[in-house]
Amino acid sequence: MKTNDREPILEMDDVHVEYELDEGTVRAVRGASYYVYPGETLALVGESGCGKSQSSFAAMGLIQPPGRVSKGRILFRERAGAEPVDLLQFHRNSRELRYIRGGRMAMIFQEPMTALSPVHRIGRQLDEVLQLHTHLNRTDRFERACEMLTRVGIPDAPRRYFQYSFEFSGGMRQRIMAAMALCGEPRLLFADEPTTGLDVTIQAQILDLMKEIQRGGDMGIVLITHNLAVVAETADRVAVMYLGEIVELADVQTLFSDPKHPYTIALMGSVVGSSFVRDHRLKVIRGSVPGPLEEVPGCAFHPRCDRFMRGVCDCRRPEMRDLDGKTQVRCWLYARDL
Ligand code: SF4
Repeated sequence: MKTNDREPILEMDDVHVEYELDEGTVRAVRGASYYVYPGETLALVGESGCGKSQSSFAAMGLIQPPGRVSKGRILFRERAGAEPVDLLQFHRNSRELRYIRGGRMAMIFQEPMTALSPVHRIGRQLDEVLQLHTHLNRTDRFERACEMLTRVGIPDAPRRYFQYSFEFSGGMRQRIMAAMALCGEPRLLFADEPTTGLDVTIQAQILDLMKEIQRGGDMGIVLITHNLAVVAETADRVAVMYLGEIVELADVQTLFSDPKHPYTIALMGSVVGSSFVRDHRLKVIRGSVPGPLEEVPGCAFHPRCDRFMRGVCDCRRPEMRDLDGKTQVRCWLYARDL
């Protein structure tokens, strides 16, 4: 469902990601569909292993063998008015995708230690992005890199520019990742848990910087997080994922005031201060997410759902339904054709 008349920057259309292992096939993403519009933030939320990061890696061309995008389309519009290109037509190491990735489309990774090169100075890594994706000369690139480092809260940037990633703390490396992703002023930013491990002041600083750059250039953001407080403050729309599929999609006010899917309701009940917390007791979602090789028939959430209907939920997979133009939900409770 497209939510407005503007052209989306990104259209994920029924994207499937699979890993062929000796033990069987892991279906990491099972048909994810969503749009991201210029200037908006779409949050992807859900428990670990629900496919949030994998669907973003698919768009960035970062799925490594034995993984593959087995089905779907990922349409990216490089600038307003341009025809969208299907990113899946490019090999993950192709020149076309390398040009888009890191420049027009960037990512703040969850694990800065693995994303930053340990053998290159951080200044050189920032300079590489600026060299590839801007027309700045060497002096301007140095100034721009130092400015970005300062903006993400790295003091004494001209000196630290020449240091290696191991000379920084975990929180500082996270901020350097943010500087690297944002310095090319991408049209689309995937922010994968961008504030994990940061104290609240720096967390607010990074989120503010993302918002500031978004306002200046109409950047779209896909925010991947399990932190619903950050979602409430930052996102425009929210997609809730469970076991590789989107189970609910709505604008942030609607989702927080009137969640529909039993999984979303349970998630809300596990947040301190939420109006869904009854008697000051946080709700625990019983059971756990099924193993990666486990195939759950019917609704993927049925073994953990309080509203489970025998003979329906465990037999037939619910389709995504548009309820009122505001919420899309994948649950048999809202089916008129049962
Ligand atoms: Fe629960 Fe059934 Fe809805 Fe699944 S389809 S969330 S099991 S009520």
